[in-house]
Amino acid sequence: MTQKENEHTLSLLKWIDISIPLRNTMVHWPNDPPVNIKRIKDIEQGDTANLSHISMGVHSGTHIDAPLHFIEHGEAVDEMPLDTMIGRARVIEIQDTESIKPEELIPHRIRRGQRILFKTRNSSHVWQADSFVENFVFISDEAADFLVERGVSVVGVDYLSVGSFKHDGSYVHKTLLGNGVWIIEGLNLAPVSSGTYELVCLPLKIDRGDGSPARAILRLIQAAGRGGK
Ligand SMILES: [Zn+2]
Repeated sequence: MTQKENEHTLSLLKWIDISIPLRNTMVHWPNDPPVNIKRIKDIEQGDTANLSHISMGVHSGTHIDAPLHFIEHGEAVDEMPLDTMIGRARVIEIQDTESIKPEELIPHRIRRGQRILFKTRNSSHVWQADSFVENFVFISDEAADFLVERGVSVVGVDYLSVGSFKHDGSYVHKTLLGNGVWIIEGLNLAPVSSGTYELVCLPLKIDRGDGSPARAILRLIQAAGRGGK
């Protein structure tokens, strides 16, 4: 194996963090509780240990939506089967700058059981913004129906909701969560391109939690060929 091939193999083995950092005053969904992280014991101030207090909405930053978020007696984050978000996932790059629509998805031949992470133009700018971005790229109602028809198992998006902010996003949430599709919101997909990856993403074990912050990481299995498949 040449050095170049060796470096290529090593880069395939590298885990890529696609989570966003949780920090004080970070952008959150309008009217959700803000993220507040405060060091209440501090070695620099003479305490024997550092210890922080944290308060936030569970749908802050990179997080998982459990069916219970929109479905009255749906599964909670602590009931998520552990293999739901461990395994192969496809990153699909979306060109549409308004929303994800079935017409753009059809050529990608999405199949039953697949985990799909949508990289939109959001990833290039929303996480640098100091305030909430209202016109982020979202999943259209028709695309939510399409994804359920195709039988995907997980859908991930690169801003704070699968649904639109300006129009009501509840149809998209209800359609996905009501049909057994688990959701990851708040991904930063800037560091990755279209392809097949290994995904690891786990929620905190919050008793009857409707959502939970999560750490999401990817490792490349195979880059997409020409045409973004
Ligand atoms: Zn959420």
